[in-house]
Amino acid sequence: STGEVYCKVPNSGKEEVHIRHSVFNMKLAMFHLSSFCHAGDESKVLHVLVKCSTPEIEAAVQAARGAFPGWSSKSPQERAQVLNRLADLLEQSLEELAQAESKDQGKTLTMARTMDIPRAVQNFRFFASSVLHHTTECTQMDHLGCLHYTVRTPVGIAGLISPWNLPLYLLTWKIAPAIAAGNTVIAKPSELTSVTAWMLCKLLDKAGVPPGVINIVFGVGPRAGEALVSHPEVPLISFTGSQPTAERITQLSAPHCKKLSLELGGKNPAIIFEDANLEECIPTTIRSSFANQGEICLCTSRIFVQKSIYSEFLKRFVEATRKWKVGIPSDPSACMGALISKEHLEKVRSYIKRARAEGAHILCGEGVDNLNLPPRNQAGYFMLPTVITDIKDESCCMKEEIFGPVTCVVPFDSEEEVIRRANGVKYGLAATVWSSNVGRIHRVAKKLQSGLVWTNCWLIRELNLPFGGMKSSGIGREGAKDSHDFFTEIKTITVKH
Ligand code: NAD
Repeated sequence: STGEVYCKVPNSGKEEVHIRHSVFNMKLAMFHLSSFCHAGDESKVLHVLVKCSTPEIEAAVQAARGAFPGWSSKSPQERAQVLNRLADLLEQSLEELAQAESKDQGKTLTMARTMDIPRAVQNFRFFASSVLHHTTECTQMDHLGCLHYTVRTPVGIAGLISPWNLPLYLLTWKIAPAIAAGNTVIAKPSELTSVTAWMLCKLLDKAGVPPGVINIVFGVGPRAGEALVSHPEVPLISFTGSQPTAERITQLSAPHCKKLSLELGGKNPAIIFEDANLEECIPTTIRSSFANQGEICLCTSRIFVQKSIYSEFLKRFVEATRKWKVGIPSDPSACMGALISKEHLEKVRSYIKRARAEGAHILCGEGVDNLNLPPRNQAGYFMLPTVITDIKDESCCMKEEIFGPVTCVVPFDSEEEVIRRANGVKYGLAATVWSSNVGRIHRVAKKLQSGLVWTNCWLIRELNLPFGGMKSSGIGREGAKDSHDFFTEIKTITVKH
């Protein structure tokens, strides 16, 4: 490697690492992810990843099994203290983590600094606090001399699998509630973005996490992921990622009747009525379409605009899109960095090609405008935010998740029509509705098949409340109570006196 090697290899003459919480088998084949040079900045290998598989998962299960009795019998307060210490340590390393996340993922440094890493810190603090406030139920049946009550107990070893778009943010959103509830965990970050997870490993001892409570395994889905999902001693899998992977995980879990939480993709609509406040709607819809290069499951990719304001909206929206600056991730004025990989960039571009072939119009972005990047970055995985119009609802660009900086804008006439069209896809994750008519907002929000509906805003999160999708966007919800319910088993006890 000519670049920086994050993961040092023992016996290679380089620095030796020993991470007692992680499962590393250095004898395994390593592979270099040259895709880590998103910014096209020379061909640097930034990361060497260990490919874990069955033996490492077995070792992780052994460690997690050994740690479970001690960890699960601690009081919630004791566990909360450990979570808070971990939050403090992450916060102290915020800048270092943000730099690594941006380099590894391609997102802007600003995004990593202001959203990803602060939210990872908040995840630990939030669940440290919320675990102290859960209660259980009790009910009486005096005529039979009975008292019924429920107890919750941790499930055991939790398998956690996360994607590449919000690496540390989503990994900690699973680790924190799982360990707060008394489980031990085996977590697998995406093979495309493992660096901050590895940095987290280094903080565990200092935070006082007992060995075996958090085990982080690295590697690719079909090896490390499947070995984890198939392991009979891992009764619960919390997965965030794509729908095809969820299908595979469901198949592998079925013989063991595992508890599953699936947070999947979206094809999220924005519905803009003629009485919307465009001053607020346009910048927010630009952000909801293109934030993090459009690589957020909650990003808007279908914009329905009422006919009377369609032309005006389109004109202003395209103007604003052209101002959404694509730049190298470290550029503080960049709104968007590079996409995750060459393969992903090609996939996103192929959708635009198909739209063009179907007769749709590309109003700005890919193939229309020019990217303005320094020469040394021109081979990076950058693309311009792209707006497509004159496209049919049946087109794959209007049906499939593209997961890139591409959005389609189409007109509609009536409320009833737009609800039907917005619901006409297999996904049901997040929707936004823009109107100044409160009656309409309630009516439309209720009828949308979507786990989350934001009205006159986007991405304002209240972590206490349920998060998750309907239809092919997933199974289950995450949040203070929902995550606690998922990561615990409930038992009803009846006492006759
Ligand atoms: P992906 O499904 O390819 O991978 C996600 C994780 O699953 C990775 O860690 C991967 O290694 C692992 N994996 C892959 N194959 C596996 C297998 N056979 N068995 C077990 N594990 C396996 O998804 P991705 O490309 O990393 O992420 C993008 C997707 O994630 C998009 O669809 C996006 O919408 C979705 N996502 C959803 C949410 C949400 O909260 N609903 C949040 C972020 C991303």
